[in-house]
Amino acid sequence: MKKSISILGSGFSSLSAACYLAKMGYEVNVFEKNAEFGGRARQFKENGFTFDMGPSWYWMPDVFEKFFNDFGKKSTDFYNLKKLNPAYHVYFGENDFIAIPDELEKICKVFEKEEKGSSVELLKFIKMAKDNYKIAVKDMLYKMPGISPLELITLDTTKRVGYFFTNIKKQVHKRFKNPKLRSILEFPVLFLGAESSNTPAFYNFMNYADFGLGTWQPNNGFYDVVKAMIKIGESLGVRYHNNSNVTQIITKKKSAVGLMINDKIVNSQYILSGADYNHTETLLPKSQRQYSKKYWSSKIFAPSSLLFYLGFDKKLQNLAHHNLFFDTDFDLHSKEIYKDPKWPSKPLFYANFTSMTNSHTAPEGCENGFILVPIAPGLEDTEDLREKYYNIIINRIERITKQKIKKNIIYKKSFCVNDFISEYNSYKGNAYGLANTLLQTSFLRPKLKSSKVKNLFFSGQLSVPGPGVPPSIVSGKLVAELIEKTNP
Ligand SMILES: Cc1cc2nc3c(=O)[nH]c(=O)nc-3n(C[C@H](O)[C@H](O)[C@H](O)COP(=O)(O)OP(=O)(O)OC[C@H]3O[C@@H](n4cnc5c(N)ncnc54)[C@H](O)[C@@H]3O)c2cc1C
Repeated sequence: MKKSISILGSGFSSLSAACYLAKMGYEVNVFEKNAEFGGRARQFKENGFTFDMGPSWYWMPDVFEKFFNDFGKKSTDFYNLKKLNPAYHVYFGENDFIAIPDELEKICKVFEKEEKGSSVELLKFIKMAKDNYKIAVKDMLYKMPGISPLELITLDTTKRVGYFFTNIKKQVHKRFKNPKLRSILEFPVLFLGAESSNTPAFYNFMNYADFGLGTWQPNNGFYDVVKAMIKIGESLGVRYHNNSNVTQIITKKKSAVGLMINDKIVNSQYILSGADYNHTETLLPKSQRQYSKKYWSSKIFAPSSLLFYLGFDKKLQNLAHHNLFFDTDFDLHSKEIYKDPKWPSKPLFYANFTSMTNSHTAPEGCENGFILVPIAPGLEDTEDLREKYYNIIINRIERITKQKIKKNIIYKKSFCVNDFISEYNSYKGNAYGLANTLLQTSFLRPKLKSSKVKNLFFSGQLSVPGPGVPPSIVSGKLVAELIEKTNP
């Protein structure tokens, strides 16, 4: 008889684990509390506009490809990918922006224009980042379930031990003087959820992901990936259940025996949760939780976000698909997220307009927009605050890109801390999980396997390897292998 497993949530780690487990011969059921699948990567359509709700930067295409290859497929069996050129714009003020091209050679020319000699340094820096990428992704990521510190010790990492005891910020500042170039090179580690001054230099492999591998876009947006993964799962027999809120993990002695879902008990031999780790443990009796309230409150979480999904009744000018507005003080905003949590005095923000690449995501002659302001998790979230920041951001876009857009907004929806909590059961409304700092790496992260309930497992951005879509996909593979290996 097949072994049965119930999976909480339908984020990338759950979708990935479901496929691997089904391939291993498990009977898999995925239970998602929301009406839509995909977790933070859900999509919605309104008034002819299509919005990806969360992730938008398709980086590390090799990790996506590896997932598909594991099932005898390629990404192109499900969606087309376009390499974006420019990859993105970075704005520093009025009439002052840098467009990052799609190839390193061209990026070198852009750097040279800003700082003489910087292209030589850039090539050296990216060579180092590429070597680290090879070690991190090819040798470590897939082999590190975060069980033991020994996983981190390989011939290559031993040679690179210095990279773990200095940080990205120092590394970048040593090599580049120009503040614009510095902020461009410090930007990729924001995906790991921590400040560049608190992220080991080894993680500069994200700079290779950025400048070496490039920024890609699936033809119907990020949700194409969700649909592809569900298709693979269905072909292997996975069953997906939406509107299925799990309210309890039922245990008997030291084992989980089932889940309480919409007031009904669903029994299974194994439980895996890809829902936020902290929330999952609240579904257990207190004595079977591994991590205390104090543990969670002592951790560095990735930021929450104030998001706006906007529909414009015209095409916008002077903008790219991805746009970073770094026209205010990077360090001040960072401080107001991590050290002195408060609503940012001068917010940096990110905006994308996917209809510039995929015109069918907005009605003809229109544009869709997504705006993200990173903020500290757990901040007070009110309609007045959202509106205040909406006005700040729209005025800034108007001023910097020299066009009127406010009156052309015909659709608007916001999403912030309270929504992250109510829609995803997210700890303090974090958007992308637990940051990857030196002390929150690998075996120092919340574990994939419960130490208190023998057949209960975890995956996703609060666990191993960490935040972001590629790591979440890998998390699903690692946990599936651990379940099979542990076989409790
Ligand atoms: C705004 C935003 C922008 C981002 N941008 C990028 C980007 O550009 N590139 C990138 O790589 N990454 C990005 N990320 C990060 C990336 O989206 C996440 O790291 C990843 O999707 C998390 O996957 P996960 O497996 O941890 O599950 P999640 O997506 O967190 O899904 C967990 C699921 O569990 C469900 N759930 C919770 N409680 C229960 C319950 N009791 N019962 C049943 N179901 C439950 C939730 O509803 C949710 O669907 C972004 C994230 C956000 C929020």
